[in-house]
Parts: sequence; structure tokens; C-alpha cells
Amino acid sequence: MKYIRHIFFDLDNTLWDHRKNAYLTIKELFRNQKIAENYQIDFEEFHNAYHLINEKLWEQIRDEEIDKDYLRKYRFYNTFLKFGVDDEKLSLYFEHHFLDEILNYNELVDGTLDVLNYLKSKDYKLHIISNGFQEVTERKCILSGIANFFETITSADSVGIRKPRPEIFEHSLNLAKAVKKESILIGDDWIADVKGAQNFGIDVIFFDVLDENPQEDHLKFIKHLSEIQTYL
Ligand SMILES: [Mg+2]
Repeated sequence: MKYIRHIFFDLDNTLWDHRKNAYLTIKELFRNQKIAENYQIDFEEFHNAYHLINEKLWEQIRDEEIDKDYLRKYRFYNTFLKFGVDDEKLSLYFEHHFLDEILNYNELVDGTLDVLNYLKSKDYKLHIISNGFQEVTERKCILSGIANFFETITSADSVGIRKPRPEIFEHSLNLAKAVKKESILIGDDWIADVKGAQNFGIDVIFFDVLDENPQEDHLKFIKHLSEIQTYL
């Protein structure tokens, strides 16, 4: 697309493999705390339950029904409760160590480095718009070795507004000195990224990691990052 100059990426699960890094972190905590031995809980079952609960809570945050403190208090607590373990101390131990230790894992989504090198070689200006914390977002980029690809990094917590709200896109485009018609967003969240970008008025490529196969006319979407090359 000749007129596009600025590419805005979502970070979690678009480039930085949050799912895989969370899985590895929780597995380590599970082992350290001897959860399988002490409570007879299977790790894969525990992780599946956590995953569903966590995704649901993040959707509620996105929809402004709960805040992050609520999520932090309940995501592990509700997971343990599902297995009959009512233990606030244990769940808070998981929460605190989860946040500290997830940054020790820095798996990227398959194809990340190839696609960033490709886009850089074509002189696109690359940026991040994440719904995470500014410091965590920057550390993820640095520790996974992709920080130097990006001209600007915007996070919801530094702006006080999260995707899909138009203000965060406005802020990020201003920071990048980009205009709408030269900008495109690539992200994996249907509401925050696709609907957010469309409502704000910029083009978007939906990264359909979970095989949701959305039925929407003229929607650009990819199943693997390498397919970005068919559009850009
Ligand atoms: Mg994402």
C-alpha cells in the first residue's frame, strides 16, 4: 500500500507472545509451590482454567466494568477456587511473582523479527500502541530485543485511556507525527484493535491468531505475521 508510512503494532500476543510467556511463568510458580503434590491439581488443567478466567477479566477491563486491581486480586484466586482451594495468600503469592517473573521470559510471536526487518527495509516507520503499563511495555520491547525497531511506544497507562477509545490513537499518531491516511494498525484484539482503529478512522489488519475467522467485508486479516507482506 503505497500511501502507508506509519505502522502501529499492538504488543501483547501480536509481537510479544504473552500467552506463551505467561504459560512458562505459571508453570514455574506451580512447580516451585509444589501445587501438583500439595493439592493434586494437574498443571495443564490449572493453566486452561486460568487462561479462561484471565481473558474474561481482561475483557471486563476493556469494557470498563472492573479495574486492574480487581483483576490482580481475583485471577489466581478464582482459578484456585475452581479446584476447591480457597486461599487468598497463595493466590496473591502467584499474582506478585507472576508480574515479576514473566519478564524473565521473552518469547516472541512466530515471525516477529522477520516481519519487523522486512517492514524496516521498506522504510516504514514502526510504532507500538499497547494497553499495558508504560514501563512494562518498554521493558518487554527491550528484553525481547525489538525496542530499536520502534520510533514511538504508547501505552494506555501513560495516556490514561485504553484502546478501543479514539483518544489513545490520537495521542499515538500525534507522538509519531503521523496522519490518519498514512497510518495502519496491526493487532489481535477484535474490539480494542480492529473496532478501535476503524472508529478512529485508520486502516487496520486483524491478526487472527485464535482462528476467529471474522466475516466482515473488505477486512484485511492475517493468520501468520509473514502474511503482512501481502498488504505492505
Ligand atoms: Mg494484543
